[in-house]
Order: sequence, then C-alpha cells, then structure tokens
Amino acid sequence: MLTWIETAGAALRPGAGWTEFLALFALVVASIVVIGLVTGAFFEIMNARHPERRIQIHRTNENKWGELKYAPGSIGVIALCFSGGLFAQGQGWALTPLPITWWSVPLTLAASVLLYDAWFYWLHRLLHWKPLYRFHALHHKSVAPTVWTNHHETLVEAILNQSFYFLIVFVIPIPWPVLVAEKIYDQISGMLGHAGYEHFASPMGRTPWPFASTVFHDQHHGYFRYNYAHSFSFWDRLMGTLHPRYDETVKRFETVTTPASGAVEPPASERPETR
Ligand SMILES: [Zn+2]
Ligand SMILES: [Zn+2]
Repeated sequence: MLTWIETAGAALRPGAGWTEFLALFALVVASIVVIGLVTGAFFEIMNARHPERRIQIHRTNENKWGELKYAPGSIGVIALCFSGGLFAQGQGWALTPLPITWWSVPLTLAASVLLYDAWFYWLHRLLHWKPLYRFHALHHKSVAPTVWTNHHETLVEAILNQSFYFLIVFVIPIPWPVLVAEKIYDQISGMLGHAGYEHFASPMGRTPWPFASTVFHDQHHGYFRYNYAHSFSFWDRLMGTLHPRYDETVKRFETVTTPASGAVEPPASERPETR
C-alpha cells in the first residue's frame, strides 16, 4: 500500500515513467470511488431522513441503480484526464507551478474554479446543440436525477468535460495540491448537484450571490433548457438561461417543512419529454 502511494507520488516528479503513471492513475480511481461511496451514502441517509426536501415530488428515477453501469467508464476517463494533468506538470511539460504561499493557493484555486465554470457552461451549451446532443442524451435520461446520476454519461461527454483537468496545468501555474483540492470539491459538488433533495438551501444560493444550489442543476434535468453552469449561476444570469423560478424555489426550500411546500412540478410544456 505504502509502496503503491510512493510510486504514485513519484509520478509527480521529473523522470517518471509508465509504472509511476499507472500507480497514480490507480490511486486517483481508488480515491474517486471512495469519495463517491462516502458522498453517496451521506446523501442516501440525508434524503431518507428529510423527504420534505425532495425537489421533484411527482417523479421517481426508475433506473437509479441501472445508471451506475456507466460509472466505471466515467470514472476511468475522469482519472485518466486528472492523472494526465498531474503527470504532465510533474514531468515539466506544463507551466512551472507556483510555490505554495498564502496568496498562490487562493489565487490559483479561484482562477481554476472560475475557468472550469466557464468551460462547463459553454461546453454544456454546445452539447445541447443538435449535432452534439447525442453525446449528452444519455445524461438527460435522468429527468429526476439521484446522487448516482453524476456518472451517468457517455465516454465522449466525459472526455470533453474532463479534459479541462488535463489542459489546466498548461494555462495556470497551479500547485498540484490545489488541483487535488479542486477535484475533490468537483467530485462532491457534482454529486450534490444531482442529489434530488435540497438540503443546503441558503440565501447564498440565490441572487445577489452567485452560488448554485442543488435546485440549480436539478432544474436543468427537470426542465432541460435552463441552468447550464456548474458551481455558479452568473453565466446563466448573464446569458438569460437561468430558470425563471430558480431564486424563488431556493428561497422556498430555506423554510420547507412538509413535502410539496418547496417543490414545484414543471408545467407539461416545459418538460423535456415534450421538447
Ligand atoms: Zn444538459
Ligand atoms: Zn446532470
């Protein structure tokens, strides 16, 4: 175990080869699986305890566990792109990372998170364009997403989306521990966005704050044509693609006490199956 981690660590230093890269790749896969299982279990327990927080009250995801058969491919691509980025940086092929200081950590983290949100928004808009939609259609089979829907995607969608983590080391001199922290956040927030239950509604999830609550991506699945971004709502606000009842729904969930007091069923005309 220790040798495995040491070999993976050697992939971050110049002169590493295939063995070190494979050890790093395997370590990233194992970490994603552990993070996914812990996050998934957390939401399964929270959802069971708080039925009043369910967002789409009249819909159930009939294929909840079946969606997981796409998880190995999705996780494999995520791990390949991410370990590829770390390896490229370690070998000196990318920008030389900044030393870890009190300012370099928040600065590179903020820059990378903001860039990823822009990447995700525009790529996602592109995936909704007819010629490319076939790569994204699988993900939209989950009209009522669950925490496991995060990995319900085609390999092409996963490659397009996750190549960000390979390319970012060529754009920002981000220290590798910062990139690891961002990826952990990304894995957890991706699952949170699909949880189907709004547990963390707060004024920070609605205007004038830019943060996106679980309702945000749930409405993307439920209504199809709104809320394309990842962590923030500003791209959708700017481009006029924010769901008109997003802020109102988050606000309602801040004080929800009974099922149906927070959720709103989409009118038939706004449902994806009628698009
Ligand atoms: Zn979509
Ligand atoms: Zn989704």
